[in-house]
Amino acid sequence: MSKAADFVSSVYQAVLTRNPGEREFHQAVHEVFSSLTPVIERHPEYAESAILERICEPERQIIFRVPWTDDHNHVHINRGFRVQFNSALGPYKGGLRFHPSVLLGTVKFLGFEQIFKNALTGLPIGGGKGGSDFDPKGKSDREVMRFCQSFMTELHRYVGEYVDVPAGDIGVGAREIGYLFGQYKRLTNKYESGVITGKGIGWGGSRARTEATGYGVVIFAQEMLATRGSSLDGATVLVSGSGNVALYAIQKAQQLGATVVSASDSQGSVYDPDGIDFDLLREIKEVERGRISEYAARRGGRSQYRAGRTVWSIAADAPADVALPCATQNELNAEDAAVLVKAGVRAVAEGANMPSTPEAVHTFQKAGVLFGPGKAANAGGVATSALEMQQNASRDSWTFDYTAHRLEQIMTRLHGSVRQTAEEYGHPGDYVTGANIHGFQLVADAMLAQGV
Ligand code: GLU
Repeated sequence: MSKAADFVSSVYQAVLTRNPGEREFHQAVHEVFSSLTPVIERHPEYAESAILERICEPERQIIFRVPWTDDHNHVHINRGFRVQFNSALGPYKGGLRFHPSVLLGTVKFLGFEQIFKNALTGLPIGGGKGGSDFDPKGKSDREVMRFCQSFMTELHRYVGEYVDVPAGDIGVGAREIGYLFGQYKRLTNKYESGVITGKGIGWGGSRARTEATGYGVVIFAQEMLATRGSSLDGATVLVSGSGNVALYAIQKAQQLGATVVSASDSQGSVYDPDGIDFDLLREIKEVERGRISEYAARRGGRSQYRAGRTVWSIAADAPADVALPCATQNELNAEDAAVLVKAGVRAVAEGANMPSTPEAVHTFQKAGVLFGPGKAANAGGVATSALEMQQNASRDSWTFDYTAHRLEQIMTRLHGSVRQTAEEYGHPGDYVTGANIHGFQLVADAMLAQGV
């Protein structure tokens, strides 16, 4: 092992010892570090200033109690988190995830990814993430409101338009953002629009924010395909998930001429060989907050609901060209990847954060599949959040077309810079290496400039 490789590995070992049991955080750090040896070789100043050690240690971590009362007057306790990871490039920025699986390690993995993703957008935003083990599923609107109010009653001390700007993630959509913002306003007596993003259009939100993550993923996939003279037009696409990211990835891919044949939730998947009916899926998921099983029942035709099965299993019997994992972390393993490769998949762009296991990424790359990691491919969401902050700071409100055009520019530029970095480091077409190195260097240079 070279001296630089030894150094990177020793810092990784120290991260493992310091953060026991945080498996997903370890995975995210390992994935970034696996690209960094040549960077340390070229830039010993990063090692001399302990940038690697510093970048893995959040600037601040907040853990708090969230008590709330249900509709039957029973008191419940959940745990709230906000990890303010890195503010070298701007105020901490990143979503809140409400899901029963959320632990500190989950929030740290997401916050760590967010640092580099946000850097790649080229916009002035640092990295952070938060959330709670609260499960909004099956709760009434009033219960969700009381939970959000209690969550913000504590969180409001630590956020602000120049400090830390939360947004949505799994389990946190327009409804939750509304309740959170309302409570912040009540507590601070300030209409500080830029304190949170993903707001309603009528009260400081940005047009195209809802669509941005999904649209951006598809733009990134289209850019990757274009490097091989191909496109989404006429392609068969597998999408997993049925939340906000999946929904608008489906819509955008369809607009570009693809046939999207799947969607899923935690209980099963839908296969619709004639192409997902976007309006029906949107109605069931976004308006009715229902389950994906209802889709096949209402759609009829050749559509099928496959209880307990992932969308990747569809590729065992049907060819596919592109896969867009848009559900959650580690939802696609090496076996799934092998099935997708065999089915003819040429490009994978991650809509979720870290949906492919390291072994799956390896399988794709070995087979020559174009692979866009989440921190690059799904950066359109947070980029449009930064555009929302821009509109709030200038008390402006842009049109849908203008905002979508800015998003497209950002994604195209991001794709270009990631690709160029991969080439500079001798890995042409390797978007994992390009994204890790480019994102890292933007943050590391700012940290160097700002001193220890
Ligand atoms: N949760 C989203 C992400 O993973 C968006 C964050 C934001 O808009 O701040 O990037």
